[in-house]
Amino acid sequence: MANKDYYEVLGVDRSASAEEIKKAYRTLAKKYHPDLNQGDDSAAQKFKEINEAYQVLGDDQKRHQYDQFGTSEFDPNGGAGGGFSDFGGFGGFGGFGDIFESFFGGGGMRNRGPQMGSDIRTTIRIEFEEAAFGVKKDITINRFERCDACEGTGAKPGTGKKKCPTCNGTGQIRHQMGSFMNITTCTTCNGTGEIIEQPCETCRGTGRVSKRRTISVNIPAGIDDGQTLELSGQGNVGDPGAPSGSLLVTIRVKNHKKFEREGYNLYLDLPISFGQAALGAEVQVPTLEGDIKYNIPAGTQTGTVFRIKDRGIKYLRQDRKGDLYVKVNITVPKKLTDRQKELIAEFEGMEVPEKGKKGFFRK
Ligand SMILES: [Zn+2]
Ligand SMILES: [Zn+2]
Repeated sequence: MANKDYYEVLGVDRSASAEEIKKAYRTLAKKYHPDLNQGDDSAAQKFKEINEAYQVLGDDQKRHQYDQFGTSEFDPNGGAGGGFSDFGGFGGFGGFGDIFESFFGGGGMRNRGPQMGSDIRTTIRIEFEEAAFGVKKDITINRFERCDACEGTGAKPGTGKKKCPTCNGTGQIRHQMGSFMNITTCTTCNGTGEIIEQPCETCRGTGRVSKRRTISVNIPAGIDDGQTLELSGQGNVGDPGAPSGSLLVTIRVKNHKKFEREGYNLYLDLPISFGQAALGAEVQVPTLEGDIKYNIPAGTQTGTVFRIKDRGIKYLRQDRKGDLYVKVNITVPKKLTDRQKELIAEFEGMEVPEKGKKGFFRK
């Protein structure tokens, strides 16, 4: 093999890009894969060569070395368990997609080792003020937890595990493919080399049971609609030795009757009278912490927005607050006494309405 030109093996130019090399390799590896060429020793040999070539040309450093010295300074077949066998478990994933994913860094370690527990997603609706000030909420969820009866092993208490008969306890299945060995993960025991003698009756051998749990969630002040809290370790249990998943709580915040929120700022519409606007006045402005006094200057126009600093929402996990924007709307009175009508008419330089008549213009 050492005499073979790796570029020739993959059928690419010496100036081929890494992408081109990868593409050529994929095409050839599919074509000569042992699964499609069973019992064909020459295909198996070709497959082996393709892999050796790619191990060198697919690696920038080794390729550089090879280009310079005509060798990658390592023997892909040498060393303990070296060469193609290193790719061992790929056959066990079944299907080409998986095989190539594992070759190209996708999910190569899939089916290996204990799996982490999965996440649980839930949504909770809270009040506007609860989001502003923070709140503690109880959430009830169903989740998988470790089976206490078998301590998560899945084996009936008092019984043990036995050597997997399929792989004889090695966790691997070896196939002789022409002149090299193809090693796949044993699917009976998932590579652990052991199977349980008798399944636990509580969990039917799964090692986990569904439990209904109420979990207390501290929702921090400043949280906004649509944000998600992650409570790590509160999701479904993982395989023995692997961590549990997370509980992901998405927060939905109800609208407020008076305030609108944007980021950490609050917006409020405040009705004031014509007199207050014209003459200036001290008005009561509602805030989330109760009413405060605010001086409207004389001559304020309708639609004017006043900013009141630090009366917005507390920033999430920060010691600062947003602002309150107050938009004043001047309201026109609907019911006036005759005296009031006279005064307004006088102010406007208008004709004084007749007493007892409803409108100005009905004479
Ligand atoms: Zn159990
Ligand atoms: Zn096995």
